[in-house]
Amino acid sequence: MNGRIERALPVSLWRMAGVLAAALALGLLAGGLAWWLLAATTGLLVQLLWRVYGYGLWLQSGSRRVGIDDSGIWGALYRIPVLRQRRELSRRRRLVQLLRAFRTTAAALPDATVVLDESGAILWFNAAATRLLGLSYPQDLGGHFSNLVRSPRVTRWLEGGEWSEPLMDVPAPADDALRLGLRIIPYGRSQRLLVARDMSKLMQLEQVRRDFVANVSHELRTPLTVVHGYLDLIEPDQSPELEPILMELRTQSRRMTQIVEDLLTLSRLEAQDSLPEERIPMQSVLHTLKREADALSMGRHTINLVLRTDANLNGSPKELHSAFSNLVSNAVRYTPAGGRIEISWELREGQAVFAVSDTGQGIAPSHLPRITERFYRVSSSRSRDTGGTGLGLSIVKHVLQLHQARLAIDSEVGVGSTFSCVFGAERISLATASEDAG
Ligand code: ADP
Repeated sequence: MNGRIERALPVSLWRMAGVLAAALALGLLAGGLAWWLLAATTGLLVQLLWRVYGYGLWLQSGSRRVGIDDSGIWGALYRIPVLRQRRELSRRRRLVQLLRAFRTTAAALPDATVVLDESGAILWFNAAATRLLGLSYPQDLGGHFSNLVRSPRVTRWLEGGEWSEPLMDVPAPADDALRLGLRIIPYGRSQRLLVARDMSKLMQLEQVRRDFVANVSHELRTPLTVVHGYLDLIEPDQSPELEPILMELRTQSRRMTQIVEDLLTLSRLEAQDSLPEERIPMQSVLHTLKREADALSMGRHTINLVLRTDANLNGSPKELHSAFSNLVSNAVRYTPAGGRIEISWELREGQAVFAVSDTGQGIAPSHLPRITERFYRVSSSRSRDTGGTGLGLSIVKHVLQLHQARLAIDSEVGVGSTFSCVFGAERISLATASEDAG
């Protein structure tokens, strides 16, 4: 298109010059030159106006045919929109083809794929979504995904906006025996792609693993209790030379019992989707934790309790107490004598935070991503020496997950650590004036 106008301009100029030259010649031959020139100029002007009018009408009609096909400036002007339209059309055709190819590919995917708009309404889904999620075409188009799937866990996850991790082990609405893994991929302007994958096989294997650990732990419990009982029956003064061996046997059997108990706790927590909830009186829980810390420390540390709010929590008192006391016991065990430990409870930006800070040995950043894994220890000997099982933080993570809360760890080697349990606003129960008075 470029250069067409430039090439057409001389043609039109020559034509105009031709008309004026003819008028000039006629004027010179026949006389009345001025009249001839005026007539020629007026003619050219009228023709120009007529062409502009014709061009306007043609543009308005949106016609795809070139109105005037000549090599002058008008021909070029007519050709510009037509060429532009043709180019647009072929671009659109290519896009449609591409879209069709995408749709065919997405439709053939074995994973359910659902396109959601910003409000969670369904814009499109593939055939696998009918099989796995029970969506039916076209009735469910425009419907809200959470209304159709009807699972409080899925609704909470969808509304939470925290989609970096997939939501695992969701029973398929169309078939309870199928277990799905849901993943949300945000794209464009607040649109979301929801992908649901059949994870039944993986979940079965995971269940077998969980059952195995739970069964082994359960089976070990009785023999361990027996061994422990007999060890306690043996009086040290019966055979003083065996005293060190007996001490070691007792320590190890106590450790094994603790590992088995922690494994059973983890299996129990893993098997649950939610916990029975009640209002937890945080003031008394925190004072109990302080007493436990004092008993464990035996005066080796300065322990402070800082209560910045009288808010309470909604959750499972037993499990939360076990999680909090794991953090407190870690602070005591990993802080050398003379160190300071602070247990605090406060509201921060609408969230409730239970935190345990210590001036202990701290944890290097490279260990932090794996610290909540089972049996992960920064230093095995230190953990063992202080009676650790390597399962404490794993239990804390699971308990917090069941309360939709998260564990934040802030630590510096040689300076100390802060372990914070951050609870969402929905878990906070603020004490009312009448309760305070009571
Ligand atoms: P353990 O029973 O070994 O204490 P945990 O799961 O409670 O197991 O903790 C995992 C590891 O994290 C510990 O072995 C220890 O190395 C590190 N850790 C936990 N809490 C602290 C802390 N307050 N200060 C320093 N290190 C800690």
